[in-house]
Amino acid sequence: MADSNLANTSKRCYEITHSYLQITESTSEIIRGTQKDIDTTRRLLLKEIFPRWSPFDGDISFSYNGGKDCQVLLIIYLGCLWECYQSSKQHEKFPLKTLKAVFIDQDKNFETLEQFVEFTKKRYCLSLYEADRDFNKSVSMSVAFYKYLKDEPETKAIVVGIRHTDPFAEDLKPIQRTDDGWPDFLRLQPLLHWKLAHIWSFLLYSGEPICGIYGAGFTSLGDVNHTLPNSHLIKTNKLPLFFQWEIDHGSDGVANCSSLSSKDSHLQNDQYLPGWYLLDDSLERCGRNKSKKEQGLN
Ligand code: FAD
Repeated sequence: MADSNLANTSKRCYEITHSYLQITESTSEIIRGTQKDIDTTRRLLLKEIFPRWSPFDGDISFSYNGGKDCQVLLIIYLGCLWECYQSSKQHEKFPLKTLKAVFIDQDKNFETLEQFVEFTKKRYCLSLYEADRDFNKSVSMSVAFYKYLKDEPETKAIVVGIRHTDPFAEDLKPIQRTDDGWPDFLRLQPLLHWKLAHIWSFLLYSGEPICGIYGAGFTSLGDVNHTLPNSHLIKTNKLPLFFQWEIDHGSDGVANCSSLSSKDSHLQNDQYLPGWYLLDDSLERCGRNKSKKEQGLN
């Protein structure tokens, strides 16, 4: 990739987003719906969030775990950063070199995911907070964030790529304070309204690399011992692919999935379709929760 500074990266993300918004040649309902979702996310960022918490002076951090949802939000967020810079008279030069971000590395993650986070950290110019892994693994996410806020006290708000269809997320608001038991900061959640199909449509169209685990039939990434391919993607189910047009546009006919790491190479299989064949939000997390042992697979 030629672009390696945040200004160029933000501009590239702006171009991806606007190119998607300008699609008229496809009559796909999914694309129309995704364009509406993008508009809502952009409005929240540009009209409600950035005027209150400056994206350029350390108020905001971005929670990033390499998953598809926060990657979609990151691309749109960076595009909005470019717009904000362009419309502001205050900055002659793009005012940031890196984007402040945080990854609470708690679970036993797939190696492919860890490599993807490392790769995209560079690709999107993230200054990714990397706390003591052993500490993170022994505490809850809220305690890990207490430590983060202690180390990064100027942070007032953190962007979260959560959607209403995630567990316990139906009543969340785009901007809200954290709950009791969490350190006090604002959660910025401008992706809540997105549907699974819209996430895939945008990501595949973008041509940006996607974490390779999704290519092996996974739809939601958790702890390596509690995450399996989604059983609804078994090839005998003969699900149709809805995103060939997006894939043709973004990556010349083949989705741009990162390679599986050597440790994860056993996940390569011809039994499951890739994650983007699943459109039903209610089935997205099948494959998570139960351990392999509980399912008799270990
Ligand atoms: P995913 O769908 O994988 O995650 C949803 C989003 O959460 C991701 O897109 C990413 O932005 C973020 N995220 C998930 N895992 C990580 C990670 N390991 N490191 C960094 N970011 C990550 N729950 C409460 O009950 N009350 C709260 O006040 C509250 N505040 C939160 C504030 C922040 C900044 C975050 C990141 C989470 C908070 N949560 C809170 C938990 C949140 O509601 C989700 O339960 C949690 O993010 C995991 O979501 P998920 O399992 O659906 O995973």
